[in-house]
Amino acid sequence: MKLHEYQSKRIFAQYGIPIPRGEIATTPSEARRIAEELGGRVVIKSQVLVGGRGKAGGIKLAKDADEAEGLAGRILGMDIKGLKVETVLVDAAADIRQEIYLGVVIDRAACRPVLMASAEGGVEIEEVARTNPSAIVKTHVDPFLGLRSYQTRDVAIGIGLARCLWKAFHKIAAGLVECFVGSDASLAEINPLVITGDDGLLAVDGKMLIDDNSLFRHPDLAALRDASEGTWAEAEARRFELSYVDMDGEIGCMVNGAGLAMTTMDLIKLSGGAPANFLDIGGGAKSDKVAAALRIILADARVKAVLLNIFGGITRCDEVAAGILEALQQVETNVPMVARLVGTNADEGRSMLADANLLTATTLLEAAQMAVAAAHGAS
Ligand code: GDP
Ligand code: MN
Repeated sequence: MKLHEYQSKRIFAQYGIPIPRGEIATTPSEARRIAEELGGRVVIKSQVLVGGRGKAGGIKLAKDADEAEGLAGRILGMDIKGLKVETVLVDAAADIRQEIYLGVVIDRAACRPVLMASAEGGVEIEEVARTNPSAIVKTHVDPFLGLRSYQTRDVAIGIGLARCLWKAFHKIAAGLVECFVGSDASLAEINPLVITGDDGLLAVDGKMLIDDNSLFRHPDLAALRDASEGTWAEAEARRFELSYVDMDGEIGCMVNGAGLAMTTMDLIKLSGGAPANFLDIGGGAKSDKVAAALRIILADARVKAVLLNIFGGITRCDEVAAGILEALQQVETNVPMVARLVGTNADEGRSMLADANLLTATTLLEAAQMAVAAAHGAS
């Protein structure tokens, strides 16, 4: 789950990271009132869940409340990379001397969080990694010891940070690591962390990604979800608790079990096709869930064939077949479908689907080959 900038920064503040004073507004007059309260120059920042808002015109400096109201009026309702701006953050403007990058992610290979910093802040870190990787300084965090001060000192030296800022930098870096771990985040990023004119450090931008699988133990974070996050298919999959990832191919997949879904995608590739998605309906899926899955798959116009691969262990094959038939009543489609059902009540399920003119297969390889042939025949 992605958090908005203002949400991320408020969480950062709970971990002792200094952020600018500011509030969010949904109307220009609200933006004016906030700017009046803050006094002086303010920055109006669109709150949309994409990067590069600055370049897209979604971040503007205003010299006073009048200008803040005018700029908020232009930014609210703006389209940024396909997302409509509903909210702006009005922050006291920072006096920026230098922009640095500070972020925490999981290093899967090292099995622990890694803190990354760069003197080249403000630009996307992926860009720095591509063009000037030596400008990124990293240190791994021991999960039992946390971030030690000698580590942040090494990082501070690595990015050429003035000695007078080391103490404040350690407090921010340690806070960010604690915030990352405490929120079950997969990313916590300050870009830019700015060095202000009066030799302070300030988190001007904030970005957090929270591991969806941890949300059950963070109801406060789960409540922050922007319902418009992601595509319709992703939102629909979340609603029905389906594990779904969109891909570029032409064969829609519906499988029960993540490992089986990966295998199914591999076999589609091996048979000369490409999967349109990863979709795990999970164990024990009932017909409404199956119907939702099929609606999501068929909503993708690139899908030229659907492969249903069900292993009936906890899930009963006749239940899944009933779900497919129910979904087919809701969605009109000419897309050919291949079903491979094995396990509990497989015979019942298979005959229900055969009666409805679906192609059925016994082995997975056979099913994958049939789906690829059907997809290529249809295009
Ligand atoms: P992003 O473009 O979505 O990453 O949004 P950021 O919050 O990082 O803002 C982009 C750029 O706008 C920053 O790198 C700064 O250069 C500039 N900016 C943001 N806030 C302020 C501010 O308060 N004062 C000044 N002078 N510039 C700002
Ligand atoms: Mn930024």
